Amino acid sequence: MRLGLFGGTFNPIHHGHLRAGVEIREAFDLDRVLFLPAAVPPHKEVRGLLPFAERLKMVRLAVAGQRHLQVSDAEKKNPGKSYSIRTVQYVHRAYPRGVELFFIIGVDAFLEIPLWKDYRKLFSLCHFIVMDRPGYRRGHLADFLYQEISPDFKSYSRKGQYLHPGGYSVFFKPVTRLEISSTFIRRLRREGRSVRFLVPEAVEEYLLKKGFYGE
Ligand code: ATP
Ligand code: MG
Repeated sequence: MRLGLFGGTFNPIHHGHLRAGVEIREAFDLDRVLFLPAAVPPHKEVRGLLPFAERLKMVRLAVAGQRHLQVSDAEKKNPGKSYSIRTVQYVHRAYPRGVELFFIIGVDAFLEIPLWKDYRKLFSLCHFIVMDRPGYRRGHLADFLYQEISPDFKSYSRKGQYLHPGGYSVFFKPVTRLEISSTFIRRLRREGRSVRFLVPEAVEEYLLKKGFYGE
């Protein structure tokens, strides 16, 4: 079993996330990609961030009927991105017969990994698939890996692979650049403009019905 874990706030999920999920699943021959909306600490009010349950619901609507794309509420119990370690350990426990995990993340978010709890342990629990993002080159990732994580990565440049001494790898993966962000979608909504074709129809319908992100 090869399982991709695609974390994010998904406020809301959009076609950039979904297309990246599809391309990565195919490129790495993953059995499925699990979208993991991040919870936020209940006491922390983040402006404009919808409740976990609503963001989860929209991911559900987005992947409905897609056999290889699924959604998990695993992060509900572990608020904050610093707790990815717990999520990864939790998913390992959920597959007692073994699972190979691929943590899917944009290079922008990956470079913040030193802020995560126990982040070093992650490199002996899962692979990382690091997607390129506008403004970043592969060199940014390589420098970061050697300087901040370990000087002992082995590089296989043709495959975009950096093998960690712990046995797991970091892969750099360019995906089709759809210049869509949740921030942009929220702004369109605030300005009373359409979000059509940026998010799946079911998501659009739901957020219009609920009046999400409007003024
Ligand atoms: P926001 O604008 O609120 O930051 P976002 O669109 O960046 O939202 P996130 O939920 O923050 O979405 O992103 C989740 C993950 O998806 C991150 O790893 C991010 O790098 C990646 N990602 C975001 N937008 C895209 C896109 N258009 N194509 C591919 N990956 C994306
Ligand atoms: Mg973002």
